[in-house]
Amino acid sequence: MRKYVAKFGGSSLADAGQFKKVADIIKADPCRKYIVASAPGKRFGDDIKVTDMLYSCYEQARSGNSFEGELKKIRSRYEDIVKGLGVDFDLNSEFETIGQHLSSAPEKDYMASRGEYLNSKILAAYLGFGFVDAADCVCFDENGHLDDDKTDDRFWETLKDREYVVVPGFYGSMPDGTIHTFSRGGSDITGSLIARAIKADMYENWTDVSGMLSADPRIVKDPRPIESISYRELRELSYMGASVMHESAVFPVRKANIPLNIRNTNRPEDRGTIISAEMPRIPRKYKVAGIAGKKGFSAVLVETPSMNEEVGFGAHLLEIFAMHNVSFEHLPTGIDTMSVVVHKDEFDKARNEILDDISNELNPESLYVEDGLALVAVVGMGMAYSRGTAARITRALADSRVNIKMIDQGSTEINMIFGVDEADYEVAINSIYNAIFE
Ligand code: ASP
Repeated sequence: MRKYVAKFGGSSLADAGQFKKVADIIKADPCRKYIVASAPGKRFGDDIKVTDMLYSCYEQARSGNSFEGELKKIRSRYEDIVKGLGVDFDLNSEFETIGQHLSSAPEKDYMASRGEYLNSKILAAYLGFGFVDAADCVCFDENGHLDDDKTDDRFWETLKDREYVVVPGFYGSMPDGTIHTFSRGGSDITGSLIARAIKADMYENWTDVSGMLSADPRIVKDPRPIESISYRELRELSYMGASVMHESAVFPVRKANIPLNIRNTNRPEDRGTIISAEMPRIPRKYKVAGIAGKKGFSAVLVETPSMNEEVGFGAHLLEIFAMHNVSFEHLPTGIDTMSVVVHKDEFDKARNEILDDISNELNPESLYVEDGLALVAVVGMGMAYSRGTAARITRALADSRVNIKMIDQGSTEINMIFGVDEADYEVAINSIYNAIFE
């Protein structure tokens, strides 16, 4: 039988009602054998996530204040869940241990990890599944970096002969046995690591949205969902601001060639977005998977007559940026011109030094900076096999009176980048969206 890792985020496990939905989802498919749980998230708009409550409880204890009130509030979140589920679970002993920890030598990461730990234990009890503590499998080195190989081995050894277990996300342990957490949102990483270790057929990531959208819904009204996308396309879109999961959470499953399915706990009937290594098998209606973009770029424009004859000019120019630790994003060139597109924030840290070095070392005829540049990326593997996408986009931008300041198409034709004035950004995205999808 196929085996899936199913990770449920904080909003999916925020209260007893959500737990029941999660249990229905898990029971609906016996392939869902390895479950990863987050801590209870927000139940409504201005609710507080249990992880945040745990951090403030720790702060109280650390500064020698009474932490009892804060701990009681956390406990009551779990009491509601346990009561709502009617599950037999002993919260007393768990909270006694936490209270003792806080009164002796409180540790921040230990406290933060209790959100996932308790939620997973309760979920395991409710489902009748086993419980595996992430502290025994996720290993960090002395510097707090994930020890990838060791973690992979530990998960494999622990899980190879087990199924139907719940594992808490977000934390692991240091070489001395103390608890250490990933950065916020890190349960996604735990799920991905398990999927890789046990060679899962699928990593399902259950959240509160039905997958990725083909454009930012704050800019485009009701953008169509993305049904399937490749990891390469995902990387291009995420780099340009489309958010899905943290890069370090995508990396293990991508490397192991395991498909990732983003799904909605509140709408399990939606298929969500499938992210897989290659071009999706189901033919896509559109050549483009999605559109994303960002403001906040600057272009440094350098002009020198006969630049084309000067060997090494470009290398020297880029070396100056590298020397000042500024990486370049794009490099549109003409015969005698080069423009280096950089993140403005990064560039501003060494702006004057870089411009001085260019003037002194390369002596260009003209040198100026254009700030306020926005980049829009149109991403889709299908573009490589077809004609006309660029034509449709440029026509649409012209019709919307948007001036294109830069065009860049990577050699693999997986993405096209358009540089426009920041003031035109929203109009540009909408007109490109309409040209492609409407
Ligand atoms: N509970 C942790 C957080 O709020 C980790 C997670 O949910 O992934 O960031």
